[in-house]
Amino acid sequence: MVGEYNNREQDLKTIYQEFINEFNHIYGVMGILKQFIYLWDENIWESLFNVYVKWKNPFNIPDPPLTIPVSLLLAQAIRNGIQPRELIDDYQDSNVYLVDYETFHNLHIFLEKLYSLHLGRELVEDDLWALHKSDLPERVLGGLEVFDIFKGNLFLGDDFFQQIKSVIWDEEALIFCKKLQNLLITFLFENKNGNETIFSQELEKVVVLLAHCSAVSSDSQYIIIGNVVRAYNALFKIINTDITHLVNKKYYTGFLICKDCNEFYPLLENESPHDFSHCSCGGGLEYLSSENSNNSNNNQIFKGD
Ligand SMILES: [Zn+2]
Repeated sequence: MVGEYNNREQDLKTIYQEFINEFNHIYGVMGILKQFIYLWDENIWESLFNVYVKWKNPFNIPDPPLTIPVSLLLAQAIRNGIQPRELIDDYQDSNVYLVDYETFHNLHIFLEKLYSLHLGRELVEDDLWALHKSDLPERVLGGLEVFDIFKGNLFLGDDFFQQIKSVIWDEEALIFCKKLQNLLITFLFENKNGNETIFSQELEKVVVLLAHCSAVSSDSQYIIIGNVVRAYNALFKIINTDITHLVNKKYYTGFLICKDCNEFYPLLENESPHDFSHCSCGGGLEYLSSENSNNSNNNQIFKGD
């Protein structure tokens, strides 16, 4: 109804104005809002949210049972005393603004969804291996907004995990982080139901983790507002980057099949399904994991773009 729409518009204006009055003087704030609107204009928020709506946890699919790839980053977190909650006696509900094992795990889930967004399809087992055996999470945590230009391994040492455990929030920065998140989520969603809540909580946890990383990278024990600004810049850049080029291609051992002419294209080393856009006949290509490729034949390999 028109009246309701006007109310929402009015609410948004009020919350925006209050935020601007309070934080306009902070360097980088207007840049974040501009990037947010850019992602809105490009329908990227909508597309990402659609991934959440349709999401089925790929690890919960019992048939066929998946062998779960182990993430180096998560293993290292555990080694440094950042434990999954089921292993902690006396576990108290985690505060979303603190970093614990679930925060690191949340980054992996977020990257899976982002990968699904950029692939334009649901993930198959080889996608999970290619993603989780890549150095992408390390790049993101160590490189933040320049995660895409690191070459080779950016190895996060034990000291990184020890430092991240000791980082604490500056009170003003925490208020800024909460109010900015609230502004953005209010803008995105008129009503918050299950998927909207999961979406906003996962994004918020990623921001919290990145803000901690930003503090660590500037050798500070405190998260200040500048770290939150950097975290949002990094998050928006990650969302807007085609991460399909940053996965570990060697786990793509299956083949592509043309949906029109049924031609097979086994993938060679260092090739991934998204390196190929279509068959020589113009047909669309579908990737089949290696477990489906037992019947592969000796057709000539075609390399296209
Ligand atoms: Zn074809």
